[in-house]
Amino acid sequence: MDTQTLLQLDRDHVWHPCTQQKDHEKLPPIAIERAEGVYLIDKSGHRYIDAVSSWWVNLFGHNHPRLNNALKTQIDKVSHHIFAGFTHEPAVELASRLCRLAPAGLNRVFFTDNGSSAVEAALKMSFQYWQQTQRPQKTKFVSLTDAYHGETVGALSVSGCSLYKDIYRPILLEGFQVQGPDCFRCPYGLQRESCPAPCFEALGKLVADQHQEIAGIIVEPLLQAAAGMRIYPPSYLRQLRELCDRFEVHYIADEIATGFGRTGKMFANDHAGVSPDLLCLSKGITGGTMPLAVVLATDRMYDAFYGDYVDLKAFLHSHSYTGNPLACAVAVEVLHIFEQENILDSLAPKTALLADSQSRFEALPHVGEVRQLGMVWAAEMVQKKAGKIPYPWQERRGLEVYKCALERGVVLRPLGNVIYCMPPLTTTENELREILDVAYEAIAEVTRS
Ligand code: PMP
Repeated sequence: MDTQTLLQLDRDHVWHPCTQQKDHEKLPPIAIERAEGVYLIDKSGHRYIDAVSSWWVNLFGHNHPRLNNALKTQIDKVSHHIFAGFTHEPAVELASRLCRLAPAGLNRVFFTDNGSSAVEAALKMSFQYWQQTQRPQKTKFVSLTDAYHGETVGALSVSGCSLYKDIYRPILLEGFQVQGPDCFRCPYGLQRESCPAPCFEALGKLVADQHQEIAGIIVEPLLQAAAGMRIYPPSYLRQLRELCDRFEVHYIADEIATGFGRTGKMFANDHAGVSPDLLCLSKGITGGTMPLAVVLATDRMYDAFYGDYVDLKAFLHSHSYTGNPLACAVAVEVLHIFEQENILDSLAPKTALLADSQSRFEALPHVGEVRQLGMVWAAEMVQKKAGKIPYPWQERRGLEVYKCALERGVVLRPLGNVIYCMPPLTTTENELREILDVAYEAIAEVTRS
């Protein structure tokens, strides 16, 4: 199909995610034909560095031979079969490997097929746990302002980005939301690196007051990604774990974005040395090849659901594609690659390179902060540095940077006034330099006027 016909049919029939379709009148989607390594390649042969890992899913580059082979091998055996009453080796191997890798105590794996549905399953598990352990009044969830946990109704209820949430408020679940950490605009004037997280107090107070009706607290550990790559210190998570233990509340960790090495360690919780009661994983789990998600649970959680059928304690939650063998087979290969290619150890020079960019970017008159955690890097543009005054959202400065970077062959999808990169873990140092150079030029150009 030629590009013009493709784009015409796209305009006529396709509804893209998280998109004001009218924007396509001026900025049509780019028709990708193939991809290799960090590059997406369009139908005319233009190459774009996928600096956002295609919505944070890609880990080792596109068209990865080992991942492709894992899929090809599995496809000749079985692509999919029902996962109730049946099981298969890739799922079993994946589950047992994940339990060994995950923070201590997580010993059970429940499969779903995207991040939001993993969050839904975790919320339902937490709720049902208390129903089945004589604490039926514990029905509410606590989340943080500016959190992002997905777009389905339960996940959206515990999210905090008003842009995605506000219109749906009448159909969302009731819960508690407390002010989350915001280190760039820290009300205490503290430094992220040495911070004991006094902002935790808001959460501590709420839970102390309301714990009788709280089932769980859900957070994105260390990185509120969709909120603009907001990074906060591990001390917050350690206090959270203690609070949950003290008041018998589940700690639900959403590591859908942070899992699988993005933060420099396998899981963000590893930076704090804590284990959640429920852990949601997705995105990188298949290296960006197939939709898959899991919820890891403790034995204590699992045991509350175990019993005779007539006790009606089972977790009667299902998705048709639960435990898809293709997705599981490729996810197992992802874990082999982590181990055999020492992926986590290879990150040090790259994360140092990202960190070193800070002074260069912050010297720009409209960059308020550069923040970085592992392979996540972000620059927040401000209209005025004094007072950290943001650009009005209507100006869509981030989109202008996106367009500018695209012309230079780098995909830097913005989050409001925040420009970020979260490239595949295998991105080379030269490719990282190119991403940073393009980000620098694009930000400088867009903030000049
Ligand atoms: N939680 C977090 C932290 C996420 O970043 C995302 C996706 N951006 C989700 C949940 C939702 O995942 P999905 O888009 O696969 O539903």
